[in-house]
Amino acid sequence: MDLGLRGRKAIVCAASQGLGKACAMALAREGVDVVIVARRREVLDSAAREIELATGNRPQTVLADVTSREGRDAIVSTGPEPDILINNAGGPPPGDFRSFERDDWIRALDGNMLAPIALIKSTIDGMVARKFGRIVNITSHAVKAPVAMLALSNGTRSGLTGFVAGLARSVAEHNVTVNNLLPGTFDTDRLRSNLAALARNSSRSVAEVTEEVRASNPSKRFGHPDEFGATCAFLCSAQASYITGQNILIDGGAYPGTF
Ligand code: NAP
Repeated sequence: MDLGLRGRKAIVCAASQGLGKACAMALAREGVDVVIVARRREVLDSAAREIELATGNRPQTVLADVTSREGRDAIVSTGPEPDILINNAGGPPPGDFRSFERDDWIRALDGNMLAPIALIKSTIDGMVARKFGRIVNITSHAVKAPVAMLALSNGTRSGLTGFVAGLARSVAEHNVTVNNLLPGTFDTDRLRSNLAALARNSSRSVAEVTEEVRASNPSKRFGHPDEFGATCAFLCSAQASYITGQNILIDGGAYPGTF
């Protein structure tokens, strides 16, 4: 299916590896001009090369921290008037909520709630004026099925989710959609560090914990980032113009509820 995105412009945050990179790859494949963002130069440049090799479309890179104002200014000035904004950042550290201080919460809020809101604020009015916009926030399955050890993630991402629910309806008539994509367990560095933390907390080996989590998924496997990227690209497509304000879980069937 041609997603009708050729020539569109996208900003993809936190995109030097993992899920963000997979979204950038899938968009570049559709002929989107992509700006990718991360903090480590080498990893970011290597992602840009990989995307160019795979798609023939070289992304622009911005070395920036999405949680800083200067970082966000650099992102928006490198990718002005985007048609697509993919919000993403590293997940906050796992741990018992008793161990977190105010600063830990503020850092988590900055990354997983306030940075996406600030980038939406900088870009959405232009989308409304141009009558096309697609905003996708990468959140987490923990929004729908909270995990005690991911207290910072559960709390801060739920704040973003509530904000998006109100915002999405207010811009829908202008062909601007705002949705959240909720990853379950995808094979990325982030998953591997969460599994290592789980192993430490339960005094088991990483291999044992990894196998247990993998086997507990109805699909008996972890998700591949490409599967996530493809869903993201579809949500950005011309065809997805009637999908907005949704929280779309991609978890191999792990969430057990009917809805
Ligand atoms: P990942 O493999 O650790 O990749 C994180 C990416 O974000 C890297 O490119 C990193 O590059 C960049 N990044 C982190 N903080 C940043 C910042 N402040 N500013 C700019 N770039 C930043 O993580 P992932 O698995 O793709 O996960 C993406 C998001 O989905 C995370 O929030 C994660 O918690 C969430 N999630 C993932 C899973 C999963 O199974 N993978 C499940 C639930 C939720 P630099 O370090 O160079 O900046």
